[in-house]
Amino acid sequence: TKWVYTFGGGEAEGSAGDRDHLGGKGANLAEMCNLGLPVPPGLTIITDACARYYDDGRIISEELRSQVKAGIEKMEAITGRRFGDTQHPLLLSVRSGARASMPGMMDTVLNLGLNDHTVEALGHDAGDARFAWDSYRRFIQMYADVVMGLDHEVFEEILEDEKGRLGHENDTELSAVEWQHVISLYKRVIEEELGEAFPQDPEVQLWGAIGAVFASWMNPRAITYRHLHNIPAGWGTAVNVQAMVFGNLGNTSATGVAFTRNPSTGENELYGEFLVNAQGEDVVAGIRTPQNITEAARIASGSDKPSLEKLMPEAFEEFQAICNKLEAHYRDMQDLEFTIERGKLWMLQTRSGKRTAKAALKIAVDMAEAKTITKEQAVARIDAASLDQLLHPTIDPHARRDIIGSGLPASPGAATGEIVFTSEEAVMAQKEGRKVILVRVETSPEDIHGMHAAQGILTSRGGMTSHAAVVARGMGIPCVSGAGNLRVDARNELLLAPAITLKKGDVITIDGSSGQVLKGEIPMLQPELSGDFGKIMAWADASRRMTVRTNAETPADARAARSFGAEGIGLCRTEHMFFEGDRINVMREMILASDEAGRRASLAKLLPMQRSDFTELFEIMHGLPVTIRLLDPPLHEFLPKTDEEIADVSAVLDLKPSDLRERVDALHEFNPMLGHRGCRLAISYPEIAEMQARAIFEAAVQAARETGAAVVPEIMVPLVGLKSELDYVKACIDAVAKEVIGESGIDIEYLVGTMIELPRAALRAHVIAESADFFSFGTNDLTQTTFGISRDDAAQFLNTYIQKGIIEKDPFVSLDFDGVGELIQIAAERGRRTKNGLKLGICGEHGGDPESIRFCEETGLDYVSCSPFRVPIARLAAAQAAI
Ligand code: PEP
Ligand code: MG
Repeated sequence: TKWVYTFGGGEAEGSAGDRDHLGGKGANLAEMCNLGLPVPPGLTIITDACARYYDDGRIISEELRSQVKAGIEKMEAITGRRFGDTQHPLLLSVRSGARASMPGMMDTVLNLGLNDHTVEALGHDAGDARFAWDSYRRFIQMYADVVMGLDHEVFEEILEDEKGRLGHENDTELSAVEWQHVISLYKRVIEEELGEAFPQDPEVQLWGAIGAVFASWMNPRAITYRHLHNIPAGWGTAVNVQAMVFGNLGNTSATGVAFTRNPSTGENELYGEFLVNAQGEDVVAGIRTPQNITEAARIASGSDKPSLEKLMPEAFEEFQAICNKLEAHYRDMQDLEFTIERGKLWMLQTRSGKRTAKAALKIAVDMAEAKTITKEQAVARIDAASLDQLLHPTIDPHARRDIIGSGLPASPGAATGEIVFTSEEAVMAQKEGRKVILVRVETSPEDIHGMHAAQGILTSRGGMTSHAAVVARGMGIPCVSGAGNLRVDARNELLLAPAITLKKGDVITIDGSSGQVLKGEIPMLQPELSGDFGKIMAWADASRRMTVRTNAETPADARAARSFGAEGIGLCRTEHMFFEGDRINVMREMILASDEAGRRASLAKLLPMQRSDFTELFEIMHGLPVTIRLLDPPLHEFLPKTDEEIADVSAVLDLKPSDLRERVDALHEFNPMLGHRGCRLAISYPEIAEMQARAIFEAAVQAARETGAAVVPEIMVPLVGLKSELDYVKACIDAVAKEVIGESGIDIEYLVGTMIELPRAALRAHVIAESADFFSFGTNDLTQTTFGISRDDAAQFLNTYIQKGIIEKDPFVSLDFDGVGELIQIAAERGRRTKNGLKLGICGEHGGDPESIRFCEETGLDYVSCSPFRVPIARLAAAQAAI
């Protein structure tokens, strides 16, 4: 087997297409080599080798060893240096690189191959002993941490002590001799803590590092990351071993990261940061504040430190040309790493850059308008779920802003919450339903859980490419990073601002779009839906087949959904209308009535309320289809439960509390989700369905009179399992229709359909279709009943299931294609066998989930229906599924 692919010297064995084997980093290094760009030579151990390593019980095969050895010989030939040589030593970087980018999740070792002898040779070679010893100490620090498992803080403490003792402020001020002393302290602490010496043999170092990269695939933070991003554990990571180039070789050397366009706004401008006389880790770690790459960005940021453009104009120009070339080649915004060694530019990485949803839209629209990509490609490129970010509120510009500090606008959107200082507290707060802002000096990959649980993230240190900034942008969580005028005192749980000291639990607002940190809760505005968003949506609408409706019953929701582009209502849950105001009491009166006459009297009071509800919905939807579902939940849901509630309600309804209690007890069900609900209610109490049907038809008449547009109401019967159930309820509806037509003299067109939310209904769809004008898949109940997992109790064990890998995803969130999906396919096929072209839709929660929407497209449904805020996501996902 070929486990190792080499690159360098203007050619490569792999290319960008080999991502699955070479990993993202390795494939793109190969591609850059093939494009003739300056890339230090190296080799990539393919991802399958990682899988094999685990299959073999964490053993590295002889075959792999000899292929790596041959690869290193190639690197030696290109560089004229030799690995482990005491004259001209070749030093290596060893980095992970999975198929999907997993920023900062796995391990990296730099400066590998240094030992007590090669360090002297390196210093001699470079004519700079300080540089060599600085590299050696970096190597020891990293290697001991990553490979030997000794926490890096131990070394930081030693270094801080030494700097204090010597009166140095920056690492760059230490001389060769001073570093030598630091290194002796490092080596001593390793022996003390681990009982073994730091390995001097470069071969041992190399295989230690490669093994550590393989092992890092299974570290907890990588596992969490994969879990959050649906990356299969079986993929494994590739390992890239590459000749070192040095950004820490004095003041003509530098290292940096850049984006070919602004990753926050999408603006077409080179955007990035660098540090002089540093190695890559320094930029990401946020230890020193980085400098701007372009002069324009420097001026905009008000920084007094020179830009790369000014400082190293030749390297800058070459870099800019490479950026243009790479962006044109990949037809996408690139995220790059580079190093300048004594004026010579080297490219270390390129990949498609992570960006905010706002930037993604702008870049896609700009590239489509420049004809770099097609409109379909632009639509396909947007992560539908990420639109959520744009639908987040922003701070009302007219609101009073009590600014207590400011940092970098690292991830857009505004968020309010209580201050917490640890990720654990953030996670706990989320469980308790509290909103928090995670406040840290800086974040590290260990904080992923806490960052996910928080509304927003605030750090006092780190740039736009710091861990906090990158991860928050990826998650779509607002973030302000590097707020240098705030001091985070996590030990005492204090946030110290120039004018005020805040403590844990105090409420702050962060504005990830301006970088401001504000005191208290600030009024927010709903987002703007025009511009690039509008363009992408229009292109998406042109490409999609399915229509997108909304689940809404209140006028506010219906209006919001219309503004998001909903093309009708797919589910109006009428029960939600009965909880409002004092209607609940009329509803209770109806439920508590002792006979049909009593029930009809109460229903007569509810009729005008329902009628005006529906009239308003018809008016808002202005001729678009509106599906109204008859009352679904069991009646006891409307009744009081606790003694206190019973006392209150009996006072209002003028009842004896004991009578009320008796009725509540009589209605009690052991398993209400599978009990007296849905069409079963309409069959027990047809007068309820009759009242609702009358309200719908009278509203249709009224709306038709007022707007002049014909309204065709779609009445939906829930929880049908038998055709005879549907027939019974449909007969009631038809009878009422006849009455209202007679009374009004207006002919009303209407549809009666059913939800398919029980397995029996799916299986008997060909029979049920004889009586139904449409089907709407209620995948919430269909999931519940197919799995036999109660919707109400699922949370208690589903998380455990996911953690233990029993199931991959929560089936109530992501449709179970294999089981529930097959039932939907069966029902669609059988229903349409009876009625050609039978209208099919989905109105369960899955109607707003992009992957489930793809399934609906493939199954040939006519529409999806989802909550108002998910309508744009569904429009885009429906288009992507159709492209
Ligand atoms: C469903 O079951 O999927 C559905 C939409 O109805 P509800 O969630 O109201 O039961
Ligand atoms: Mg249901």
